[in-house]
Amino acid sequence: MGNELVQLTVVNQPGVAGTPRSGSGAAGADLCFSAPGLANEGMVASEACGPGSEPANAQQPFGSSASAGRLKTFYIETFGCQMNVHDSEKVQGLLLARGMTPVEDYAEADLVLYNTCSIREKAAQKVFSRLGVFRKGRRGCGKVIGVLGCVAQQEGERFFERAPQVNLVCGSASYSKLPQLLEQLEAGNTRVTGLSLETEECFETEITRRDNPFRAYLTIIEGCDQRCAFCVVPMTRGPQRSRSSEKILAEARRLVDEGYTEIQLLGQIVNAWQDPSPARRSFAVLLSRVGQIPGIRRVRFATSHPRFFTADIVQAIDAHPALCDQIHLPVQSGSTPVLARMLRGYSREEYLEKIHCIRKARRAISLSTDIIVGFCGETRQDFEQTLLLMKEVEYDQVFSFKYSPRPNTLAEASGEAIAEEEKGERLAELQEVQRQIQLRRNQGLVGETFEVLVEGYQARLGQAVGRSTTNRVINFPGGPEDVGRYLNVKVTSAGPNSLVGARAGRVDMAICRKA
Ligand code: SAM
Repeated sequence: MGNELVQLTVVNQPGVAGTPRSGSGAAGADLCFSAPGLANEGMVASEACGPGSEPANAQQPFGSSASAGRLKTFYIETFGCQMNVHDSEKVQGLLLARGMTPVEDYAEADLVLYNTCSIREKAAQKVFSRLGVFRKGRRGCGKVIGVLGCVAQQEGERFFERAPQVNLVCGSASYSKLPQLLEQLEAGNTRVTGLSLETEECFETEITRRDNPFRAYLTIIEGCDQRCAFCVVPMTRGPQRSRSSEKILAEARRLVDEGYTEIQLLGQIVNAWQDPSPARRSFAVLLSRVGQIPGIRRVRFATSHPRFFTADIVQAIDAHPALCDQIHLPVQSGSTPVLARMLRGYSREEYLEKIHCIRKARRAISLSTDIIVGFCGETRQDFEQTLLLMKEVEYDQVFSFKYSPRPNTLAEASGEAIAEEEKGERLAELQEVQRQIQLRRNQGLVGETFEVLVEGYQARLGQAVGRSTTNRVINFPGGPEDVGRYLNVKVTSAGPNSLVGARAGRVDMAICRKA
């Protein structure tokens, strides 16, 4: 679509880039750091690293870099979901708290971290292609290289065989042990792991270095106790554990003090959250409480599971204007037999009842979903059930995937695989059906006015990019001065993935960030 903007310039507000922007504790080199022998020899000059260059210490035994002492700079790259993005923000907070400095280029970093995703095979492969830069003969270029997240947990110690240049392998359930693991590396250990899944705690940090200047992620629940037959998450993120409502509300208030007006509550299954504190608040009550914090203007939450989706969530949205008009409710398939084999815990009809409950709300709530095509044994008839369900629900957005068999999942062993070609054809067909639905729905919005939070602009096109409470992207004439403001925009035309509009006046002078 000619009218759709693909590149967004996000303007960092003063004090945002490269600084610890969130947290209540003290930051600085005096925290956590106690490694002996701190001379920095062995930290090879940055220009020695990267494709086409040989590191200065290529002849040193593997891992000699890790014995070189204090790690001063770090680079982190994140793959995957919002949970991973936020985990990386917290890991960065940990590193800042021990006095380390972030760098934009991995070649300049003493510590290079990849936070990985293994939800589908393609995502899992990404880290191995990145690690190729530090492959055999290059010996890690004098850097300490760490792999975090789901692939780290899934591969465990095998990672060292597949990628001998790696020094640290740590799953998300062990992130709170990272300071000790880094100390071990600084003390001379060359291979350290954090792979225990036995934890009842969430990952708490004094500092969180949030990357997005407008939307603050806030974890309320970690891990997953569901056993969806396709999904690797319970094996990679460990058992479900919820943060207390007091901690969550305190963090939300701190975010307001820092200038955030939009908060997104996060969890693999966010609505399975159970308050461990004596207050025993329900998820709907938690939403209401967050939505009533003065200064908070938008609250989103993801990802909800249909099994835990209750009517009081819709009532909370109706009652509290700060709760966004948006629900993401992954259906995965429109066929009851496929849902049963996926072990999703609901039928097509039960899912549609939840949708009906959402559609009955006083507010027009925007709906999005996730769908997997070509799950083991999915017949053409099953697939058509999914297409029919999409047409019935009329989602505003669908994230669709070809089924990717994952290690140690129940479905992996079940056989009945669908040919890749067939999966590809079904995916294309489904996406075309959804494209038509979105185009029609978006065109129906022409002439309407929405409040948007301006998240960026396209200097070349003189266009600002805003997002509505329903999570729709609207492009309209604007510039850097608009970024961070709430504006009213009238829709003038529509494509399947975004809208084009014109200003209809400023809602108020609220600037997203105070700083
Ligand atoms: N926890 C959420 C739930 O269960 O509804 C979903 C989180 S997952 C990170 C995001 C989406 O990836 C899932 O909703 C599903 O559609 C998709 N997904 C998960 N495992 C997959 C697999 N093995 N193959 C293809 N897609 C998969």
